[in-house]
Amino acid sequence: MIDNSSIESLKNSIDIVDVVGSFIELRKAGANYKANCPFHGEKTPSFVVSPSKQIYHCFGCGVGGDSIKFVMELEKLSYPEAIEKLAAMNNFSLTYTKGSSDYSDAKRILEALGQWYVKNLNQNETAMRYLLDRGISQNSIENFEIGYVPKGQSVMHFLQSALLPLPKAAEAGIIAQSENGRGYYARLVERITFPIYSPSAALVGFGGRTISNHPAKYINSPQTKLFNKSRLLYGYHLAKESIYKNKKIIICEGYLDVVMFHQAGFKEAVAGMGTALTTEHLPLLRKGDPKVILAYDGDKAGVAAALKAAQMLSAAGFDGGVVLFPDGLDPADLIAKGQSAEVAKLLREAKPLIPFVLEMIASQYDLNDPRAKEAAFGALKQYLDTLSQIIKDAYIPMAATVLGLSPSFFGKEANPARARENFTQKKDDVAQLSILKTLIEHPELIDNVLSVVDVTMFGGYAGLFSALINSENEHPGLVGLSVDDSFVVMSEVELNNVLRNFLIKHYDLKLKSIASSQQISFEKKSFLIRKIRTDIIPRLKKGELVAYDPSL
Ligand code: ZN
Repeated sequence: MIDNSSIESLKNSIDIVDVVGSFIELRKAGANYKANCPFHGEKTPSFVVSPSKQIYHCFGCGVGGDSIKFVMELEKLSYPEAIEKLAAMNNFSLTYTKGSSDYSDAKRILEALGQWYVKNLNQNETAMRYLLDRGISQNSIENFEIGYVPKGQSVMHFLQSALLPLPKAAEAGIIAQSENGRGYYARLVERITFPIYSPSAALVGFGGRTISNHPAKYINSPQTKLFNKSRLLYGYHLAKESIYKNKKIIICEGYLDVVMFHQAGFKEAVAGMGTALTTEHLPLLRKGDPKVILAYDGDKAGVAAALKAAQMLSAAGFDGGVVLFPDGLDPADLIAKGQSAEVAKLLREAKPLIPFVLEMIASQYDLNDPRAKEAAFGALKQYLDTLSQIIKDAYIPMAATVLGLSPSFFGKEANPARARENFTQKKDDVAQLSILKTLIEHPELIDNVLSVVDVTMFGGYAGLFSALINSENEHPGLVGLSVDDSFVVMSEVELNNVLRNFLIKHYDLKLKSIASSQQISFEKKSFLIRKIRTDIIPRLKKGELVAYDPSL
């Protein structure tokens, strides 16, 4: 059992923006963050995360809760599993009341192995020579905790002699069960090892590079509860400080590139886990709001990967650029040859993301052939449509120039008139919802408000108002409203002003409905109209909040 007090201190140390932001991409929207809801398919974001309330809420499907609930629902975990996952993500040590724990065991095994790998490297001349020949300094080897894993049996011997439980080592991705199910074998053997850390510096797995011409050049830990390679970036924990400080992140292709970049002083360098950059990396990349520099090989595979990544990053609103290293020269080689200044120059001259994408796409077509040119136009237009309207408009002239066409071909689709129409229609709703939102935050004002309005005046929002009066704090509509920052919490003076305007509008409408009503006698009509026109509305206009009269 996890100790309750340690659950409490975990809760206090995590931030919902970090938690949700490490699974899905969040964008700042006022005081809150927004995203496309991960629980129901949608194209416009209605999923809101509130840092001040430490909750999330989806206006589309109604889900909501705190950090723990989010992890439980998204990862389909039980409560204790979600707690352990959150602890592992945040490098937080939970305490247990009795027995052993999953994650602390896995962590212990990974850390023990990491130290053993490091020790092995010092005893393996071939492996050490390989690293030094690649230009990696002793300092970098220590800094990145590069190690070596010998033959398979020695891993099993080590685990057994260190009394590390084999099933837990299997869970941590270190060993795997053999096919007949009767024993285990080490997954990583005879390789140089690179420990892989989570962004919060928790050891979660290893990458291994062969030095004995094994056909698989690199092997990583398998996907485990701790190790999700599609979200991790190698070296991030060491690069984090520089990324935040310099507002820049360099993404390169291999682990050795990262090590060499750091060695040459480019401490913002990270790499994917041998996979392409995907949208799952975006939450991590967004942290610290850096410019993203893609530093890839200039070979065919590198160019294709850079194009895909640049398209994705620009569509996600990132600023940044692309550096393609001259064919056959990877950055690690350049730095090893003492050409760090050349690398710095290439990085400075990185081609901005959007121009890079436009030119690369166009270069795939023979623009002298009208049909190919038409296809290129379609491809460029499709790409431009993934960008925000303002950015798109700014780059249309460049796209046109690249193709040798007039910018008018790319047209404009925005319709400001229609946007304004929607806005006025919603204005009345804004007043009512702002009143309700203010009352959610200041329930002590409810009685005052109730003395001048009736629930029925809130039309479509009457149900929401009733829930508020009955303090149904979990009501999804109220939770949604409380995190929706298109409505502000007003001061008492502002609230009274909005209330008065709301009432004036209400009584104006009432006058019209009374005048045209067939059910009310002439005498009653005259009385009501006189009362509203000569008494209630003038008093409201003078600044008085007129008490609600049920007989009206
Ligand atoms: Zn939803």
